[in-house]
Amino acid sequence: MSKPNLSSFASSIQAAAAPFRTYLTELHEKYHPLTDGKVADYIPELALAKPEWFGICVITTDGQTFEVGDCQIDFTIQSISKAFVYGLALEHHDRAYVNCKVGVEPTGEAFNSIVLDEKTNRPYNPMVNAGAIATTDLITGKDATERLKRVLDLFRRYTGREHDINVPIFLSEKATGDRNRAMAYLMRNFGMVSDRIEETLDLYFQQCSILINTHDLAMISATLANGGVNPITGERAIAAEYVQDVVSVMLTCGMYDYSGEWAYKVGMPAKSGVGGGITALVPGRLGLGTFSPPLDVKGNSVRGIKVCEDLSRDFGLHLFNAAPAERDLDEWLSGSGVADSW
Ligand code: GLN
Repeated sequence: MSKPNLSSFASSIQAAAAPFRTYLTELHEKYHPLTDGKVADYIPELALAKPEWFGICVITTDGQTFEVGDCQIDFTIQSISKAFVYGLALEHHDRAYVNCKVGVEPTGEAFNSIVLDEKTNRPYNPMVNAGAIATTDLITGKDATERLKRVLDLFRRYTGREHDINVPIFLSEKATGDRNRAMAYLMRNFGMVSDRIEETLDLYFQQCSILINTHDLAMISATLANGGVNPITGERAIAAEYVQDVVSVMLTCGMYDYSGEWAYKVGMPAKSGVGGGITALVPGRLGLGTFSPPLDVKGNSVRGIKVCEDLSRDFGLHLFNAAPAERDLDEWLSGSGVADSW
């Protein structure tokens, strides 16, 4: 079960009167009725999620927190873990070594496709399952317990609270994970992963089964947006030199085979997971977390995409936006924006 959410407690500056909060509430009301998409069921335990669950949370790099809806419901992090474990692998080895084991090229293929770069035998990037398994293999530790501890501690640094594994989901992943197992053995054939293959697969299934909530998703991205330092606890979660590695693969590969369209339309580095979570950031400014289990055919949360599209457009948050935004984020955060103008 989850431990007390210290970061949530510490950061409940919850700027209640700010118009931005009203904006998020209206966004939640706007998209809650949307019934498109389907809750993932390829891992049987995931199918227990309720389609109506819906949370949105924004945390600024100066620690203001805005949350609406089901932000305290725990769910499994799934593929979102891949971005952050990639950062940990970079810390455990140097960049050149990690680059030999996993590339940074988008695949345009589904997250679970069994495909390696023909020239180098590397998985294409750390965000597809093959690349994530290769990344997880790079997590050091004297045994399985120490390696898992390091992964859990990583997420503690990012979110500011302790995390646990959802054991039934872990076991369900493990029992149905033959496709991932096949990839791991294929990569071992090419010398891309070590021989402790079952241990690494267990660690990969465990990292996917880490319980987080929407508030945590905003916090992990707020931490990246803040140069790798959690804006509430002040603890560094990732060495500053690797922030750009993680954030750039999020931008190019974070939304599976929707990443190109996402970069074009939303323009925020992001990562999604089949549990229904999305974490996204505006570097230097804020982290955003959304949670809604129904997924589109590519495996991204339907409501989550809508929320990010609206926020990006309405506040000009696209990384490459040069036009004046319809709304000024600073005004809306501070209280001088007009909340009921849309
Ligand atoms: N645990 C999942 C898997 O390997 C992660 C997939 C995801 O979130 N896309 O299938």
